[in-house]
Amino acid sequence: MPKVAVLPGDGIGQEIVPEALKVLNTALKQSGMKFEFEEHLIGGSAIDLTGKALPDRTLQACLDADAVLLGAIGGPKWDSLPAKERPELGALLPLRKELNLYANIRPVKMIPSLLSASTLKEDVVKDVDLVVLRELTGGLYFGEKGRNDHPPAAYDVLVYTENEVKRIVELGFQTAQQRKKKLCSVDKANVLESSRFWREITNDIARNYPDVELTHMYVDNAAMQLVRNPAQFDVIVTENMFGDILTDLASMLGGSIGMLASASMSGKKGLYEPAHGSAPDIAGQNKANPLATILSAAMMLRYTFELNQEADNIEKAVIKVLDEGYRTADLAKPNEKTVGTKEMGDAVAAALSMEFGN
Ligand code: NAD
Repeated sequence: MPKVAVLPGDGIGQEIVPEALKVLNTALKQSGMKFEFEEHLIGGSAIDLTGKALPDRTLQACLDADAVLLGAIGGPKWDSLPAKERPELGALLPLRKELNLYANIRPVKMIPSLLSASTLKEDVVKDVDLVVLRELTGGLYFGEKGRNDHPPAAYDVLVYTENEVKRIVELGFQTAQQRKKKLCSVDKANVLESSRFWREITNDIARNYPDVELTHMYVDNAAMQLVRNPAQFDVIVTENMFGDILTDLASMLGGSIGMLASASMSGKKGLYEPAHGSAPDIAGQNKANPLATILSAAMMLRYTFELNQEADNIEKAVIKVLDEGYRTADLAKPNEKTVGTKEMGDAVAAALSMEFGN
């Protein structure tokens, strides 16, 4: 039976993950499928109960599972701990490292009923439906770094191995095959040797994917094009630092942080989580928007389990409730009626049942 490690974590993580599970269970019931969901401690709540942000049992459960569904971790209660013991450094980074999660996937899709939430002109963002794939474990952030005294200087070395480039670019082509079959590889090949290496490998791999249209774009142009005409993109694949910058830029195209899903992958195995944090300011008040976590769960069905229909159905149910006017506080205009976390989860599960049967 497919196995999912469920890590609600801290703050609103405890509220949004149950809503994602509610929706997941509805989708799986419709398909007559059963998953094993096993809940484990992580983050501040794990520190309180076990003394460690990433208890051994949790790590082992994540290693044994096909996928991990995470809420969020951290909060003011644990901020005064030494940096390495804090929830983020003590749990999230080691978990990503242990699971070898080398690909970060962040989809950005404009939902028409949320058009006015974007900071960009409606005409520019109305047709946005793209995915940014960022290499997560190589490049400048992981190369040798240091300082020289005479003369004073600092350096960070940008290294990519062939294997590191191959596996993320392959995933880029496979992702494009499941979408509009357009892949844009972003580099700086006019200046950087590592980018020319990246481009050569990408062109080689392209021969195995004749159904995917490949383009190359320099990163400075990509930043400009993402704001000028973001609807031209389907899948973007890029290295670590370019991706770091472009994913943040692209995330604003869709409007609200409460809508942003993400996946960090190693092959078919993935860690799925909303892009936001534990929101201590609204935790425990039934105010959090659960949609980013629900959409992360849909990504899990698509990328780890290849249940594309079920993932599509969840995304359609989310669009339906938004079209019907359901808004958590973060999405609402002033004086607009709002629903709570639980009510939003109930509405998505109900829309799923109504549209696609029980
Ligand atoms: P945050 O994302 O938790 O909150 C930023 C703002 O957005 C807050 O006003 C919050 O109320 C709002 N917000 C976030 N998610 C929301 C949702 N689903 N619905 C409605 N409103 C939402 O960022 P922060 O305040 O900088 O960090 C809070 C804690 O979360 C910190 O301890 C931080 O280290 C941690 N954090 C964890 C992760 C993670 O688990 N991956 C990521 C980022 C931050």
